[in-house]
Amino acid sequence: MTEQKKRPYQKSNNGSGKKTYYGKNFDPRKSGDTRRNTGDGVNVRIGQNFPLTIKRLGINGEGIGYFKRKIVFVPGVLPNEVAVVKVTEVEPKYIAAKVLKIREKSADRVKPLDEFADNVGGFELEHMNYSAQLRFKKDVLVQSLEKFQPKGWSDYDIRETIGMENPYGYRNKAQFPIRKIGNELSVGMYKRGSHELVDLPVVRTQTPATMKVMRTVRELLDKLSVSIYNEDKNRGTVKTIVARVSHTTGEVQLTFVTNTDGFPGDTALIEAINKALPEVTGIFQNYNPGRTSLIWGEETLKLWGKDYIEETILGKIFQLSPRAFMQLNHTQMSVVYNQALSALDLTHADKLVDAYAGVGTIGLSLADKAGEVRGMEIIPEAVDDANHNAALNHINNAKYEVGTAEKLFPKWQAQGWVADALVVDPPRTGLDTALRREILRTQPEKFVYISCNASTLARDLVDLSKAYQVDYIQSIDMFPQTARWEGVVKLTKRQK
Ligand code: SAH
Repeated sequence: MTEQKKRPYQKSNNGSGKKTYYGKNFDPRKSGDTRRNTGDGVNVRIGQNFPLTIKRLGINGEGIGYFKRKIVFVPGVLPNEVAVVKVTEVEPKYIAAKVLKIREKSADRVKPLDEFADNVGGFELEHMNYSAQLRFKKDVLVQSLEKFQPKGWSDYDIRETIGMENPYGYRNKAQFPIRKIGNELSVGMYKRGSHELVDLPVVRTQTPATMKVMRTVRELLDKLSVSIYNEDKNRGTVKTIVARVSHTTGEVQLTFVTNTDGFPGDTALIEAINKALPEVTGIFQNYNPGRTSLIWGEETLKLWGKDYIEETILGKIFQLSPRAFMQLNHTQMSVVYNQALSALDLTHADKLVDAYAGVGTIGLSLADKAGEVRGMEIIPEAVDDANHNAALNHINNAKYEVGTAEKLFPKWQAQGWVADALVVDPPRTGLDTALRREILRTQPEKFVYISCNASTLARDLVDLSKAYQVDYIQSIDMFPQTARWEGVVKLTKRQK
């Protein structure tokens, strides 16, 4: 299953696919002119240093300051800090810079537990204390609403972000590339904006179980001299190691993504893993040949053990094959689903639509409370899993179909299956215009929007607020130490 082209499950990855402000087409070295008067009378050149006061954080967690009224983006700094920065990029609309020195530190600054946090992607906020991170996540939402100004926005009930008791050790899946650098095996993440792999013995945002498996497997691969992928030569076997742990059972599912069809040495490797890591209950090979930015290939083969790991969510069991999608933070996922449940306030007469359903986790965990559930999702394997999981839990009032929300939602209505309740959980791009139009036309009584992008949420609310009132927006911190935002919106039909 999935995480394939266009990474449809982007939503829950580590944010490495996020938009950055750097590295656009302009290359000052080629232009020969590093000094740019950018049309606003501001003369700046690449390499120039200046002190900068940080006013706030932008939506990607980067610091924002102003140089002669021009906006400057600097990663790794906090509001109210004064830093000496060096310009790395000059664009008509902004300047990008990096920190040389922090002259005045914020009281919110802490030393990141992960030493590499400033170097690799996905740890944008680890230098900020946790309560400030939670405030930031509320602020991201406010910034987005201010920008798009949906109807009534200034009166919205914006609730304090629900954080984690322990904002570490939450990621239930590690998906790390492996390369041989000199004589050493590196298993970890790429340096920010580069292709240099950093070996990471400890990653505090990961569950200890996934890291234990990752490090032990690295040792075994080394000891057994298993062939490792070499990107330059495009040769060798093991490219990426994926370890996923079930929060419920502690079982770990292990997948080797390989460049080659065959897997020389796999028998000895499996034997060694069985001995060293009894928690690994299934071992798989995913074949993904050649140089590609996609992590997963199309073919997955079971090498040993169980086909699935099982996870329980709000009392329902979900069987997960290696590619089946599951939110990365089990604890906060339950918080999100419970928020959705209480916001929807379902009755047994309600027809509920679970739009952007994945493997049906939301709809199936709410099916007891509704009359009927229908869901849609564009990935056929996910839809198969959703229907399979419905049967597994003896849920017979839920049905999942392959297709886009914007096509199937109107189709069902036209066929006379009219939704009383709707929950949408779109990817970062938000809702399709056609779906928004259809929601405005049919106006289901109960409506909850689960969003992972405050900006597209605010944009969508501009339309939706024509027919719906926003009762509240609850931010939930699904990804502590990162800038990623998640929230649940309760909408109620406006009285005419
Ligand atoms: N609700 C699920 C998954 C949310 S991720 C959960 O909580 O786990 C968003 C999902 O929307 C992905 O599975 C993606 O494949 C799917 N998707 C993307 N565009 C879609 C569209 N236009 N219509 C329906 N589903 C879509």
